[in-house]
Amino acid sequence: MAKYKVNEIFYSIQGEGRHAGRAAIFVRFSGCNLKCPFCDTDFKKYEEMGAIDILNKIQLLSPDCKFVVFTGGEPTLQVDEELTTLLQNWGYYIAIETNGTHKIPGGINWVTCSPKCLFVKGAEPIIKVATEVKVVFDGEHEIIDCNIDADYYYVQPCDTGDAKKNAEILKQTVAFVEANPKWRLSLQQQKILNVK
Ligand code: SF4
Repeated sequence: MAKYKVNEIFYSIQGEGRHAGRAAIFVRFSGCNLKCPFCDTDFKKYEEMGAIDILNKIQLLSPDCKFVVFTGGEPTLQVDEELTTLLQNWGYYIAIETNGTHKIPGGINWVTCSPKCLFVKGAEPIIKVATEVKVVFDGEHEIIDCNIDADYYYVQPCDTGDAKKNAEILKQTVAFVEANPKWRLSLQQQKILNVK
């Protein structure tokens, strides 16, 4: 029976990508193999939990929501088929948010790959297929799909913490989407709504 290092489990609204606006239970796994300069996720603390503990917490948070998002940190470092099979057996639809540098475990319904190779050396994705690709645009680096075959491509303006810079990045992002309609705009709706 595996033990997973879980940073937090919480119920909120998915704010990004194709599922934006959808109620979701987020399972944030501790630890990441990358150190992105703009990483705003505190994923260092953790509690060790078994698959059943995770299922129990998910059910406690919402008896009705059947949409689970594995995030991190980097969830592919820990998620395995013991966990995905248990959740699938209980009728959950499982999405994962990954930097693409590790194999995706079996039993995942939706893969969001957010490649970080433009920002971090050696972070080229090894996965070739995802459901959606989400690229963070910081106003400086290129917007590329890293040769990942996906159903949807999203570009998301980086939140720099500087309102003037953010407005300029958003303007450039919109101009990019207009010029490259394969890409769609993803806004961090959780920040706009001021929810977690
Ligand atoms: S891949 Fe994601 S979680 Fe890991 S350091 Fe980069 S931004 Fe943070």
